[in-house]
Amino acid sequence: MSCIRTQQMMDAWLDGELDPSTGEEISHHVGQCADCAALKARREQLRATLQAAAPRYAAPPALRSAVLNQLQAAQQPPVARPLTTSRGPSWWQATAMAAATSIVTALVTWGTLGKLSAPSGEQVALADQDRRPVREQLVARHVASLSAPSLIEVPSSDSHVIKPWFQGKIDFAPVVRDLSAQGFTLLGARMERVSGQRAVAVVYKIREHPINLFVWPDISGRDSGAELATVRGFSMGSWAAGGLNFAAVSDVDAHDLERFVMALQAPR
Ligand SMILES: [Zn+2]
Repeated sequence: MSCIRTQQMMDAWLDGELDPSTGEEISHHVGQCADCAALKARREQLRATLQAAAPRYAAPPALRSAVLNQLQAAQQPPVARPLTTSRGPSWWQATAMAAATSIVTALVTWGTLGKLSAPSGEQVALADQDRRPVREQLVARHVASLSAPSLIEVPSSDSHVIKPWFQGKIDFAPVVRDLSAQGFTLLGARMERVSGQRAVAVVYKIREHPINLFVWPDISGRDSGAELATVRGFSMGSWAAGGLNFAAVSDVDAHDLERFVMALQAPR
């Protein structure tokens, strides 16, 4: 385990998001490396400071009922959806909104319980989890997958082998396309979790750079066009289509990732 890897995964490790063997490797490295141990201490100090110093306010009863009403309204299924492509909020905006409402709910709950000054560590940890943006989480999962032996649970370059492997494990049908003509070699797939939901990662590579394509059900049900982003130095392309969210994450440059996303979206 190198210092760079350790530092990239430090937050995910402290949040308990890594698999046990990767966590042990990081723990071992931190035990022997003064630099990484110092970084860990700084992160823990920051966390403690935030927990102790962040102000918390009680929500008045009117706000609480307004939030609950809005949540109920949001849970009503849409009556009808036009077939034309009206672009609604993308999956990460929808998830961010869901996280925001859960934070408000958590604050309201704390206010109601009168635990404003000293919330328990468990409550803080839960709120931290909700606040962690989906994109950060995907990068953490990508980095963790690279050092874990379990990057691929079903190794195959044949989509007709991978698709049946998903059967019985998930209740949706991920897209698995052969993109070898475009230079992307299919390596295989594994089970994943994104925002607490069951997900899959279909793994490709180009010039020895792995690409994780995360796929999981879309709660908003709206299609959204591909958005390209750089998150902690990693290239990410994300979109929603056909009731599924897609996010491709890799350390390839943005141009290659854009080609990958376009190849996946191209009509068959
Ligand atoms: Zn180190």
